[in-house]
Amino acid sequence: MRATVMYQAGDVRVQDVPDARIREPTDALVRVTRACVCGSDLWPYRTMEAEPDGRRMGHEFIGVVEDIGPEVASIARGDVVVAPFVFSDGTCEFCTEGLPTSCRHGGFWGVGDVDGGQGEAVRVPLADGTLVALPVGEDDALMPSLLTLSDVFATGHHAAESARVREGATVAVVGDGAVGLCGVLAAHRLGAEQIIILGRHRARTDIAQDFGATDVVAERGGEAVERVHELTGGAGVHSVLECVGLEEAFGTALRIARPGGAVGRVGVPQYDALPGAQSSFLRNVTVSGGIAPARAYIRELLPDVLEGRLEPGRVFDRTVGLEGVPDGYRAMEDREAIKVLIQP
Ligand SMILES: [Zn+2]
Repeated sequence: MRATVMYQAGDVRVQDVPDARIREPTDALVRVTRACVCGSDLWPYRTMEAEPDGRRMGHEFIGVVEDIGPEVASIARGDVVVAPFVFSDGTCEFCTEGLPTSCRHGGFWGVGDVDGGQGEAVRVPLADGTLVALPVGEDDALMPSLLTLSDVFATGHHAAESARVREGATVAVVGDGAVGLCGVLAAHRLGAEQIIILGRHRARTDIAQDFGATDVVAERGGEAVERVHELTGGAGVHSVLECVGLEEAFGTALRIARPGGAVGRVGVPQYDALPGAQSSFLRNVTVSGGIAPARAYIRELLPDVLEGRLEPGRVFDRTVGLEGVPDGYRAMEDREAIKVLIQP
């Protein structure tokens, strides 16, 4: 089968790899019908050292179940399923506590002998705990929005939950990538009254406004902090969603949180130490967040997507076939595209 392999920074190829097949009795074999490129795929795309065998890519996908192992009970052949970006058993102590990303038996797509999502098919380990069946056909018009449940919309929701977004809250979202835009949508869904998006790209902030943003701050650094304070009567916001992962973005997030507020960080940190220890201490700002337990949120977010109330799939502004994946990476890296949908 064909699948995406990254060999080093800037070198992504679509090539022949061994066919995905059932190996364990708890596996499912899924033919991928939609996948996408993630903002987090761009970190290795910029920095990865050469690896002779390469790394299988892709952790967001929807597909059709072609086969199941004898112990799979909740998923059947022919089901259209969405996979979260981490697989998990659904039964261990962490899964039971709503944190499937810390599953005792789980893991990441594309690591070891596990397939990546940017390919024709995937062997899904722990299918019962991992996959969620969708009550739609494989080419349903809702596919782009359903695919965001795999990662970006779930991650935006996790940022909002971690930042304690409540009915009537003031919120700021740092980052206008697909996750930031989904964070706006999630904050709006949770009843935020004022949602300030920090971003400079008109096409992106326009979507943010459609998703519920009330204000756009195009400034950066100290000027952005000043502008947010102006917009909030000098107080700062209750909740900040940090959706970038760079130290500067986190520093801005801390400074625009109001005393007693919270920062939910979901951008994969590209730095080692959290800055701002003293200023956040003196203002009782909570710092929370981390990798989003997407599997635990899918059931909650699914109805709003299925019933068309929310359309997170609008973050996809380009579609490629499998052979077009390398150009999809390039387009996202060059900021020509917000997020690239793959239709194998
Ligand atoms: Zn588990």
